[in-house]
Amino acid sequence: MIQLEPLWIYQQADLALDRFENGLKKSPTRTKLFNVRNAVMEQQNRIKRLEADLQKALDECSRIAADVRKLSAEVNNLDAKMEQCDTEDITQVRRLLKNMEDWNRALASMRKELAQAQNLAHGTDATVKEVRTKLTQGKKDFDALKEKYDAELAAAAPERDRLKAEAERLAKDIPKELMERYKKIKKTRMNPVAKVQNEQCGGCNMAIPSLTMSKLRSGDVLLECESCGRILYFTEN
Ligand SMILES: [Zn+2]
Repeated sequence: MIQLEPLWIYQQADLALDRFENGLKKSPTRTKLFNVRNAVMEQQNRIKRLEADLQKALDECSRIAADVRKLSAEVNNLDAKMEQCDTEDITQVRRLLKNMEDWNRALASMRKELAQAQNLAHGTDATVKEVRTKLTQGKKDFDALKEKYDAELAAAAPERDRLKAEAERLAKDIPKELMERYKKIKKTRMNPVAKVQNEQCGGCNMAIPSLTMSKLRSGDVLLECESCGRILYFTEN
């Protein structure tokens, strides 16, 4: 005769512990804590990306500024040449003037580009500062919530310990193999044991074949529901 009653009683205690622990997981403080943690992580990633952008913009500024300096020197050089120019050759003068115009235009366009890159760098820098401020606040919020949640857990500890101890006490009455089977089913089912009622599985409500029912009545074999895999607990009363 297989005795399933102790396992059935153990399951009640096991489920009570589950419910209590799930209740703790649903704590609004815990939810807030996770949200704040995710936001902080997102801000940290954002800062990394922004700092990379900022570095790129600053590098671009240096590159353009160097180009501007180089071209300015060449324009000054050309300017000097034109002043010294005592040539009467109108073609040469025209060529020099044309060069001067082209270079001045190029210089103006580079300065514009530089100003744009500087604006971009400045904007990125401001955003980095803004996100840093948010991050500091986020970390503060996280610490405060963590403290609150730890206090909640500490307050819940005695009741959790009590439920755990009760489940452990009842587990002592269960044969090792049966407990292993229970734990295996528990991985996919909240309640691995189902009571049989009106020739139906109490877990999934599937009708139990009459052959299985007579085996259950004999009480000699351990049977699992063909449909949901739960251990079937049959009792006449
Ligand atoms: Zn079932």
